Order: sequence, then structure tokens, then C-alpha cells
Amino acid sequence: ALLITDECINCDVCEPACPNLAIYMGPEIYEINPALCTECVGHFDVPQCVELCPVACIPIDPNHTESREELQAKFEKLTAEK
Ligand code: SF4
Ligand code: SF4
Repeated sequence: ALLITDECINCDVCEPACPNLAIYMGPEIYEINPALCTECVGHFDVPQCVELCPVACIPIDPNHTESREELQAKFEKLTAEK
């Protein structure tokens, strides 16, 4: 999963672009729910939030590093739940 750092300027661009609805407004800045973020695997070739973020504040979440296979499995689980 990816993580939004405190450099976020709350520009609102990433939230509607997330195919997994993983991005939400937290107490101060936007946040990513790691249970829902597939790093866009299954939907797009590149993370949409990273593509759009004007301040490049969305790195890999060091507490939620996942292989491509794990991300694909998460995507399939999330899709099956819909
Ligand atoms: Fe959503 Fe993709 Fe960004 Fe993860 S990488 S928060 S799935 S837009
Ligand atoms: Fe914050 Fe970047 Fe999302 Fe804008 S695109 S709300 S700066 S994380």
C-alpha cells in the first residue's frame, strides 16, 4: 500500500481518482486505507494518486510493503466482495 505524508496540501485531486476508494480525508490531511490500496494493481499500470499528486507526497507505506502477487490477490479479494 502507499502512504500520504504530511507534505500533502489537501488539493483534493487524488481522492476521486482512486479506483479502490482507498483515499479519504483524515483529521488534517488525506489518508490511505492500506486494506483497500492495491497500488492500483488490477486497475492501472501506475498508481493514479502518484501520477496526479502535485507535491509527490505518496511513497510506499513502509509498514505495508507488498509484492505484486500480494497486491493482485488483494485486488481479486476486493473485487469479489463487490
Ligand atoms: Fe488508490 Fe491506487 Fe493510490 Fe492506492 S495507489 S491509494 S489504489 S489510487
Ligand atoms: Fe494530498 Fe497529493 Fe492527494 Fe493532493 S494529490 S490531496 S497533495 S496526497
